[in-house]
Amino acid sequence: MFTLNIRFQIAAMLVLLTIVIDYIKNPHLKLNSSRYFRIMLGTTAVNLTLDMITVYTVTHLDRVPMFWNRVFHQLFYASVIFALFFEYLYIRMLANNQKRLEKKEALLSVIPLAVSVIIILRGDVYYYSDGVYAYSYGPLLPVIYICGLLYLIMVFKLISNKHGYVTPRQRSSVVIGCIIWITVLAVQAIFPRFLLSGLGFVLMILAFYFSEENQKENFDSEAECFNRNAFHKMLAENYARKKPLYVVTLTCRNIDRVFKIAGREKGIQALVCLKEAFARHTGKEVYHSSDKCLSIFFQEDIRQEIEKLHELELELKREEYSDVQMNCFISVLDVRKYTASWTEVDDLLDFLTDRMQGNECKICFLNEEIIKEKQRRDKIDALLDEAIAGDGFEMVYQPIYNSKEKKFTSAEALIRLKNCGELGFVSPEEFIPLAEEKGLINEIGDRALELVAQMAKEKNLVGSPIKYIEVNLSAIQAVIPHLDKRLERIIDRYGIPASFINLEITETATVNFGATFEKNISSLRALGFSFSMDDFGTGYSNIAQMNRIKYDLVKLDKSLIWPVFETEEDGIENEKAEQLLASAISLIKSIGMKIVAEGVETEEMVNYLVEHGVDYLQGYYYSRPIPADQFIQFLKDRNDTK
Ligand code: C2E
Ligand code: CA
Ligand code: CA
Repeated sequence: MFTLNIRFQIAAMLVLLTIVIDYIKNPHLKLNSSRYFRIMLGTTAVNLTLDMITVYTVTHLDRVPMFWNRVFHQLFYASVIFALFFEYLYIRMLANNQKRLEKKEALLSVIPLAVSVIIILRGDVYYYSDGVYAYSYGPLLPVIYICGLLYLIMVFKLISNKHGYVTPRQRSSVVIGCIIWITVLAVQAIFPRFLLSGLGFVLMILAFYFSEENQKENFDSEAECFNRNAFHKMLAENYARKKPLYVVTLTCRNIDRVFKIAGREKGIQALVCLKEAFARHTGKEVYHSSDKCLSIFFQEDIRQEIEKLHELELELKREEYSDVQMNCFISVLDVRKYTASWTEVDDLLDFLTDRMQGNECKICFLNEEIIKEKQRRDKIDALLDEAIAGDGFEMVYQPIYNSKEKKFTSAEALIRLKNCGELGFVSPEEFIPLAEEKGLINEIGDRALELVAQMAKEKNLVGSPIKYIEVNLSAIQAVIPHLDKRLERIIDRYGIPASFINLEITETATVNFGATFEKNISSLRALGFSFSMDDFGTGYSNIAQMNRIKYDLVKLDKSLIWPVFETEEDGIENEKAEQLLASAISLIKSIGMKIVAEGVETEEMVNYLVEHGVDYLQGYYYSRPIPADQFIQFLKDRNDTK
């Protein structure tokens, strides 16, 4: 008959069984640590079983020969040591991002185990049984405690290693697990009759199960595949292996729009179809690696797999999933060649998502050129941070010719990044979009206006022939609440009237020019600011917007002007361009707005534009954008003589 003593083991066994069933039910990642977790489950089950068997043998010495009694006890002690050993290995895998053990490390970690096993084989065991409680004691017990302590010390060394990769969460689950174990062992040492070691193991496993091995954390139930978390874990593990490693990613650029337009349900359906196509063609496990990306790993020579990717590419070009038009591309990243750490992969994939334009599905191999582009972008990124923190921007001014008054009566202020070092000249066309993406544009916009106001004050420009300066306002700035107060505060600081500032706006499809925009414009207008519609003739700036917002000036983009003056043999194209430009000019004039022509480079352009009644001319023909001092000199030289 069993004694009372196995109630803890039974409880522990039930908990263990529940964990095992739940673990088997869910899909799980093939990580090194998961393998050790499974071994841990196994050794703990064996340990609990042996624990119960030993209780039986001690209480039934009349039936069980002493030899077997001792053997079972030795096996039980050994199972405790093995359970500790695998627990240590499990934590070691987590702490080192699944990196396999080096020979020396493996040897060191096996020493406590080996020494303990030898002692267990030779040492004495004594037994106690009073009919209710039964346990064993003797010199073997301290061996187990010492061995347990050694592994505990090794675990603490792992989690306190600053160079390791242990996340705070992993660290706390390990600490909780260890506290449970220490408590259980301490209780057991004081009250040897309570056989708690098995329960201790199971509670520790439970702690890991909830924090690390809970497969729901790795699974995206909507996309029906592993998620970003799992992708990172697998990436780290694959990276630590010494094999070739490619991350192939299927990016759907417009997935957020698909969700918005077709609805969530259809969006998810389409995503699942994409994932299935990806898995079908490649035969690999697919990970939902970011909102827009599905990724797989190749650990063999990619050349053999290209055919599969081409087949996938063809299918994506051909098919619509759930009647939804998706805009995809496939990228191939040779992780070994182009990254120094697996943590760079995300950044590269993000960069590629931004960089790839166009609607057709293509396969893009990441190459030196793209890496260089990314390095340049990262440097500009850092430069922007520095420029914002310090005094890293300056403004240059491009004079604008007034064709009626025949002199320069305004200018456009254009921002420049100072001290670009090895990068050479970095155009605002390059850094402004990046600043917008990084959320720095409002600060940069403020700085630009401040520099203009400061210059206007210093050079005493207000009241001079210069009637106003045109300052570019990013679309993002244009829609922030309380823009009026923000801009007013800046010009007030220098005593510059709002009428001296004309704000140039390029409306874009990416920003919602809704009620806040209209409110900003009307309150800024009430303060005295005037407005230009920038880049007329490109993309989104169109006639419908003119009706909604009152602009003072329209800036004709160079792409509308230049084709008229191109000396192609094909005269017909030129004629079309000419008609287009002439009608645009007369249309804008017919609604009573003034026109600035941009990109005026030749006398021929000047003559044509003036003849057609264009009010203002801006371009290299007159001057490139120049620093403030030169600008003032330019005005002196040109306004006084002409
Ligand atoms: P944009 O507002 O259309 O500015 C006109 C651009 O055309 C300027 O380029 C100017 O140097 C260039 N340009 C002027 N005349 C000619 C010409 O005759 N021929 C040619 N080929 N180009 C000419 P820049 O300074 O490189 O600025 C590029 C863009 O960066 C600007 O286009 C504007 O969108 C943005 N940007 C510049 N400064 C600022 C700023 O302070 N704030 C914001 N938000 N954006 C700015
Ligand atoms: Ca502009
Ligand atoms: Ca422009």
